[in-house]
This record gives sequence, structure tokens and C-alpha cells, in this order.
Amino acid sequence: MSERKKNRNWLPRRPKAERSDTPKRGVTLAAVGRGVVIFILICIIAASIVAAVLTVYVLELINTEEVISLEDVKLSLTTIMYATDKPIVPGTPPNEDDYYELERIQNVENRIWVDYDQIPEHVVNAAIAIEDKRFREHQGVDWARTASAALNYFLPTDTLFGGSTITQQLIKNVTGDNDVSPQRKVQEIFRALNLEKAYSKEQIMETYLNTINLGNGVYGVQSAANLYFGKDVSELTVAEGAAIIAITKNPTVYNPFRYPENNRVRQGDILYFMHEQGLLDEQTYLAAYDEELAFKKEEYIARQSTTRSWFVDYVFGEVVEDLVSELGYEENYATSLLLSGGYRIYTTVDKEMQDYLEKAYTNPETFPALVGRSYPDDYPESAFVVMDLNGQLRAMVGSNRTKEGALLFNRASDAMRQPGSAIKPVATYALALEENWVHWSSVVDDNPILLDEDDPESIYPLNHYRSYLGNMLLPTAIQRSTNTIPVKLIQQITPRRSFNFMRDKLGIDTLVERRVSGGQVLSDIDLAPMALGGLTDGVHPLQLIASYQIFGNGGYYTKPYSYTHVYDNEGNLILEKRPVATRVISPETATILNQLLQTVTQPIPGATGASARLQTNYMMPVAGKTGTSDNDHDQWFIGMTPYYLAGCWLGFDIPERIVYYNYAPPIIFSRIMGPIHYDKPTAAFPIWGNVEQKTYCTETGMIATPDCPHPSAGSGWYKLTYMPPTCTLHAGTLFEEENETEEEDDGNFPFYNWYDEDND
Ligand SMILES: [Zn+2]
Repeated sequence: MSERKKNRNWLPRRPKAERSDTPKRGVTLAAVGRGVVIFILICIIAASIVAAVLTVYVLELINTEEVISLEDVKLSLTTIMYATDKPIVPGTPPNEDDYYELERIQNVENRIWVDYDQIPEHVVNAAIAIEDKRFREHQGVDWARTASAALNYFLPTDTLFGGSTITQQLIKNVTGDNDVSPQRKVQEIFRALNLEKAYSKEQIMETYLNTINLGNGVYGVQSAANLYFGKDVSELTVAEGAAIIAITKNPTVYNPFRYPENNRVRQGDILYFMHEQGLLDEQTYLAAYDEELAFKKEEYIARQSTTRSWFVDYVFGEVVEDLVSELGYEENYATSLLLSGGYRIYTTVDKEMQDYLEKAYTNPETFPALVGRSYPDDYPESAFVVMDLNGQLRAMVGSNRTKEGALLFNRASDAMRQPGSAIKPVATYALALEENWVHWSSVVDDNPILLDEDDPESIYPLNHYRSYLGNMLLPTAIQRSTNTIPVKLIQQITPRRSFNFMRDKLGIDTLVERRVSGGQVLSDIDLAPMALGGLTDGVHPLQLIASYQIFGNGGYYTKPYSYTHVYDNEGNLILEKRPVATRVISPETATILNQLLQTVTQPIPGATGASARLQTNYMMPVAGKTGTSDNDHDQWFIGMTPYYLAGCWLGFDIPERIVYYNYAPPIIFSRIMGPIHYDKPTAAFPIWGNVEQKTYCTETGMIATPDCPHPSAGSGWYKLTYMPPTCTLHAGTLFEEENETEEEDDGNFPFYNWYDEDND
């Protein structure tokens, strides 16, 4: 016997519990003194509680007659998601005939009600032993524990117990009311007292054991028994029952799939307390203690992988987020509502596209060869998102490996990665064109700046092509993803205004304004973050991709969304997306940048995105931008056709250099988006706003005259209000021309080495 007790000692055990293991009934003077102090404190606390109760009661803030109905809790209904193949018009209620069922959020798997007499007594006892040892005696509230919990609040001690009885915990679980304010606490006490008057201990325990959160999205002991042990709850052994009850204190920390060692410690504690409280005889206790548990993790993974798509996961998360932010629910409660509330959710998914994307994104042929890497063994991770041009999400994948589970880490929406030069169009060029720092054919100088004017070595920044090309026209700078030009433009725009634009207008919520870390001040309000995308934390790929919609729809930003309507089980509308399209750049800027980004995918030397053209239709215009972060840790292509906006991110979870033969993301984009466009006729992007297409002089960047050497070489888009003058270098050899507009614009027109003053 002592041998076996010693064996138990390898387990971490709370000293308090271990102490009471050995009989020690001697009462010392010190203990008496401590008892007196505690007694006095308890009196004070009790008096405070009475005072609080009276105060609140007088203020009539609490309905002391309120009885929560346990019958309602039993109604557990399946939530269903729907999809449609018809266009979704924001703001119009879904026509049910147009929708079909996309996914059932299976409450059969997540919550199965069992009656009290089907639950083994040892499971009930396990809950009582660890959560509420006076459950069978009290009237809903354990006054001694309430006082001692209040005491612990002032004199924190290591304790295994909280202040709430099982009755109080049940009230929290079914009302979702987790507020810890004194008023709510008092309300909870009244509710608990009333509940105990209206229902039997068995009814309360039955509802409790059927509604507790037991991790991995399951609620109640029956579904937990199915999930963790592949059994009916009535077949659970004492050891298994204790392992399940151990989870409820914190379904993440004590999740037996993720942290079996934590679960084991608490399970051991439960068995110990059951024995100590006379709920388990010595022999059963020791046998249960030594029993090896076999959790059914593999079966769980196999089952999950067949059911949930990345999109369904994302919708689930977005609805929970909105229930929390719009209706004020607590997150766990919102989650349980979604699992069992019988909701109807109308999603924006294109199911055919989603199915295709999930299949194509695990197909080795989608992913170009990389130096020293092969798919899938050591290939980088990747995420891909497709949306319409106004924020409606249509398909996404959070990984390029087979999905093995539900609610997994989604690299499109959850990861924070460095955008590199994919940030340039939104952070730099949008504002530079909007504010007329440049026009289409501005001559810009690809030369470094000096960070420190006295230090000729402090040249900044480097280009990825490791040289400086001198004067070039703006389209060349964008096509080649030159670094020097955006840096100079951000100097003009100022990093602060670029930062605000990204954060406030384009929904990039991961930018860091100011953070002190290890004695260093970190901030994204600087040249490198705003011009070159070297951010403190990075971006969520989905947010960066979504920000490009302004170049595809004439300048509006709509926060991306994956559902339009959520109804409860009685058909009441509880959530509705009312997408707000905010104009963030002028239609003219949108057109010019859209056309500029189309040059990135032209088959011309140095264009970084040429391979993004759709393999199925080279005539379909693609406007887009590549992006590479420092050391080739992240690679991107974000692009759009007249039909869809999509983006590809590629990188290792723990960043490592990606060495390539051919830059992969545009190729992946082409391979994925080609089939998506198979039935789409070639179309052109619209032209928004008051713009005009003109031929410009490739030497001066001004509007070409018949005298310019290669008048047909360049064709660009210009705002009518910001048109460069006709070429002054070559014009006039044939005729004289007076141009009023030219004279007027000359004052602020930075057409030639417009930044020379900064760079002398
Ligand atoms: Zn000319």
C-alpha cells in the first residue's frame, strides 16, 4: 500500500491536498489565532455581502423572483449554414429558394442530452468532489465558500476551488453571464436560490452535466464520452469520468488531446478528493488512479477532416466575433449558441469554387519547384483567398496541406506576416497619385537617399536587383518593384499619413503605432514599414488582399465578409451584414493605379508579375503586385481580374528563406485563377472618373508631340485635372504652341527629378 502511495508522488500535487492526506488533528495555538482572524474576516465579508445585497435590492436593480427555466436549456438545435450560386445583393434578405445547405454544425456530435439516470453516479460524484463538495446539502449557495472566496480575493492563497457552487456555475453557463461585478454576483445568488426552490438536485445536476464545456467544441458528458473515449456515458470507468470532469475548469488548459499531462494532474486530484470525501473506497480509488486512459484523438482528427471547410471555419469565427461585438455576448456563450442554437447562417461562399480551391491547393502540381524543397514534405506553407471586388469572400484556404480538423489555425486570416513590397500600391502609390505627387509618366530617380547626411555610407534603401538604375518612368518603378521610389514618396506623403490611411481606411488592424519592447520603441510610423512593408508585427494576409479592392472597383473599401444574415431558431434576424462601401481614393486614382498594376503582369523584361497571367486565357487582364519580405521569408502575389480579387501568400510558419527558380506566387495565382475563369469571357476593367489615355514622351514623361522620338512607345492614364504639359524638349521644332494649362500647372508640377531638392 505504501509502495503504491509512493508511486503516486511523481504527480504534482497541491501541498494542501497532500497535507490532509496524513491524519493530523492536533490543534495548535497558532491555528486557533488564525481561526479567530479568519472568523472575524468572514464576519466582515459576510456583513459586506449583506450590505451589498440590501443596497442593490433597494435600488431595485435585481429581479429577485426570476427563475431560470431548465426546460429551455434542453432544447438543443442544429445550426445550418447555407450557400447560393446566385449573386448576393447586400442588404436584401436571402430568398430561401436560391440557397442550399452548405454545412450542418453538428450538435448531434457536439451536444447530446442524457437523462440523469443514464449518467453514472461516479461522474456526478466527480463533479461534486472537485467543484462543489456541499452540493447535496446547500440551497444553491455555499455561504462558507462565498466568504472564503471573497477572503482569497484579499489574501490570495493557492486553492483548487472557486467560490461558485454547481448551481451558480449552471446559471453562468445557461445565461452566458460571466460578469464578475458585485451586482451580477448578487443577482446570480438570487437566481441560484430560486433555481434550487424550483428544481430538484437531480434536475440541476442533469442540466449542469449536459451543458458544461468539455473542450474541442463539445458540451455535456455524453458527447464528451463519445469524443474522448468512443463510449456511451453510461460505460465510462471511474478514471475516465474524472478525466472528463477535469476539463470543465478550463477547456483549453485541461484539454486531454492537447495537454494530456495537465488533464492527468487534475484527474488525479479529482480521484483523490472523491476518496477523501468518502465518495470512492480505497481500492476503487487506487485502481482508478492507476488506470491507463486511451483518448481517441486519431478518430477525432479523421472525423473532423471530412466535414469542415476552411470557409465554414471562417464563417463560424466571424459570426462568433459579431455576436460578441454587436450583441455583447461572452465568447464561450456565443460559441455554444452557434453549436446548439439552431441558427440559420447565409454565407457568401461560392461552394464550387471552395471545393475546387481546397482540392487544387493540396495538389502538388499547383506548387512550382523551389530550390531544395519539394511539396509537400518541406515545401513552405501557403494561403489563398478569393473575393469579389466589393468585399464578399468567395473561397479561401488557410494552408496548402490537407485539412485535419475543425477551427484550425488559418494562415489567411490568423497569421501575421510581413507584406514586403506588396504593401507599396496601398501604402505608397495610392496616396502619391491621389495627392498628385506623381502622375503616370513622372520621371523618377532610382537612387538611394542618405539616412544620415554626414555619412556617405548611410545609403538607403537597397533594391532587390542590387543596383540603382537612375532616371526611370513611374511604370518601370512599379513593374520592377523598385525600393528607392516609394521611400522618397513616403518622405513626401509622411509615414504618419500613410499609416493612418492603411489603418483607418483600409482595415489593416495589425499596424503598431507605438510599442515599447525590451527598452526599444517600435513603431510602424516610419519609412521602412510604410514604403517597404517591414512592419513590426506584419499583416493578416486576408486584410492586405482585401485592401486591393480599391483598385478593382473604382476606389471603395468594404470590410471583407463571409455571411450576410443570421437567423435564430424562431426565424428572428439576429445578425445582418450591411456592408458599407467607403470611398477611400478618387475614381481617377483607382483607374490610374489599376492600369499601372496591369503593366506589372505584362510580358515585358523586368515585370515581376508576368507569370500571373491566367494560363487558360492570356487575354484576360490581370492587375496585381508581387511582394517579398526581407530575406525572402514571405512571398506574395495579390491580383485581380475584372471578376475577382485574389491573393497568394507563401512562407514557412517559422520564417526561413525561400529560394526559387521561378517566383512562385504569381504562378500559383495563375494556376488557381485560370480554371476559376474558364467560363468567363475576356473583359476589360472599367475606366472610372475623369481620366484620359495619352501617349507620352518616353524621354521627358510629358505628353508626346509629333516631334518626340518615340511617340508611340508609351501610353498612360491621366487625370484631366493633373495632365502633364506637352513635351517641351522636342516640341517646337515644327510649330509653336501656347498652352495655358501648361503654364498654370508648372508651379507645382514635379515632372522632372521632382525631388531634386531633397537629394542634392
Ligand atoms: Zn519629347
